[in-house]
Amino acid sequence: MPRVTITREVHFSAAHRVFNPEWSDERNFEVFGACANPNWHGHDYVLYVAVEADLDRDTGFVMDFKDLKSIVESRVVDDMDHKNVNLDVPWMEGLIASAENIVVDLGPARRPPARRCEARQAHALGDAPPLRGVLR
Ligand SMILES: [Zn+2]
Repeated sequence: MPRVTITREVHFSAAHRVFNPEWSDERNFEVFGACANPNWHGHDYVLYVAVEADLDRDTGFVMDFKDLKSIVESRVVDDMDHKNVNLDVPWMEGLIASAENIVVDLGPARRPPARRCEARQAHALGDAPPLRGVLR
């Protein structure tokens, strides 16, 4: 069967502070800019989650788009939307709250049935090229 990738785009807004606790405030501002603000910084995020698999012979689907939307919303967006990434998202605990770590660590999305997924995230709308993280 042909192998096909389907992609779902979701949006959420969240606050964060990107900082390395081992560095001075000056060093954090130098490296992370406005994202190092001790009183938080906000973004509108765009997240793309892609699932690649062989087509199902009976349905012609990789998976049902409704199911993919439900998985991403219940396991990622509900944790992130209008939350503080540093304080409110358990699977980000102990990590620097960068867009890269959000993509790599999409913690709850790793559980089945998401299976093998690829996720891309633009850090703020129209800002910076998409990042990739492979979830296994
Ligand atoms: Zn920021």
